[in-house]
Amino acid sequence: MNKKAVVVFSGGQDSTTCLFWALKNFDEVIAVTFNYNQRHKLEIECAKNIAKELNVEHHVLDMELLNQLAPNALTRNDIEITKGEDGELPSTFVEGRNLLFLSFAGVLAKVKGAKHIITGVCETDFSGYPDCRDVFIKSLNVTLNLAMNYDFVIHTPLMWIDKAETWKMADEFGKLDFIRKKTLTCYNGIIGDGCGECPSCILRKNGLNKYLKSKDAFK
Ligand SMILES: [Zn+2]
Repeated sequence: MNKKAVVVFSGGQDSTTCLFWALKNFDEVIAVTFNYNQRHKLEIECAKNIAKELNVEHHVLDMELLNQLAPNALTRNDIEITKGEDGELPSTFVEGRNLLFLSFAGVLAKVKGAKHIITGVCETDFSGYPDCRDVFIKSLNVTLNLAMNYDFVIHTPLMWIDKAETWKMADEFGKLDFIRKKTLTCYNGIIGDGCGECPSCILRKNGLNKYLKSKDAFK
């Protein structure tokens, strides 16, 4: 069985948890980060540092063209971060991002002789991103296999769990503190616990509090 995997890795909480999941489940792990002119270059630095510390082969691919196609609040300072209401997508949405990232990850995986692709997409905290849905991932898996005549398996360890359970998974790997301190998910570019106020920090903080509370209850 092919035990080599490529992880789509941004240096945030979810993809870092996926990276630990991959290190536990596969013999050889490669991380790939996409540089698309994120608001915070620190995200790329953060991903580099984590990969280095974990001694994981790391590729940073230039995807700046994404910003030419779809300017959005993550890549442009003049667009405000808003939370999407009533079925409207939040301004942080990048059209087609997962489709593109996973396709490029697939090309890299085949070049590297890896059959497994891991992504931290999740339907539970569903913000309406169509390419985070399980049905999309399954469809893309078939498409990639046909496109490259290769038996890829896309793994989504976080698909059906919420943020509290993602923290639980990190804790089970003994990596809760690592992920809490070294990852970056804050839209204002503050590492670790972040600014505490942006939508991403609130989601992360609520999940952590929920998990720590449930853990306390079992003590
Ligand atoms: Zn924040």
